[in-house]
Amino acid sequence: MLNFCSLYSGSSGNSLFVETANTKILIDAGVSSKKIEQSLLDINVDPKTIDAILVTHEHTDHVQGLGTLSKKFDLPVFVNQETLDAMPKQKDKIAEKNIKKFIVSDKFSIGDLEIKPFSIPHDAANPCGFSIWKEDKKISIVTDIGHMTNDILKNLEESLFIMLEANYDPEVLRCSSYPFTLKSRIAGPTRPFIK
Ligand SMILES: [Zn+2]
Repeated sequence: MLNFCSLYSGSSGNSLFVETANTKILIDAGVSSKKIEQSLLDINVDPKTIDAILVTHEHTDHVQGLGTLSKKFDLPVFVNQETLDAMPKQKDKIAEKNIKKFIVSDKFSIGDLEIKPFSIPHDAANPCGFSIWKEDKKISIVTDIGHMTNDILKNLEESLFIMLEANYDPEVLRCSSYPFTLKSRIAGPTRPFIK
């Protein structure tokens, strides 16, 4: 068994849930701890049974409830050093023993899940996506990317399921009040934004 559920997705907050028969993890905690607890209860998962939280990057819509959730349920947080340093308010709430640092591209295990973080293009300290295996079954999660890269494509290969979030609408972006530099960044390097 390898189950996936998107608890929250989008600019108002992100949190994903993955479980096997023995292991339950969250990827990001971008809404309040209370909301995440309730959304878990809604899918019949006791928040006390969560084993760990993985962090993709430090933006508030991915970590808002992280520190509180970790503190309340004594949860290990798997994060890279740069991301950890970029979210001091969350870091302060997480007990030292619950900070589990990973190196991007190095595989690690949580229960019976094997996890490989990989780099993604996004304006954060060291943002990453994750490939997650339960034996030979693989799923991959990529959020907030501005554009696709060959490296991401390679990491998505052979996934049974891919969660890919890359949300911008070219027309909405063109008409928005964002400054030109921000519009260009969102549009990505292969599609230079034309004013
Ligand atoms: Zn972001």
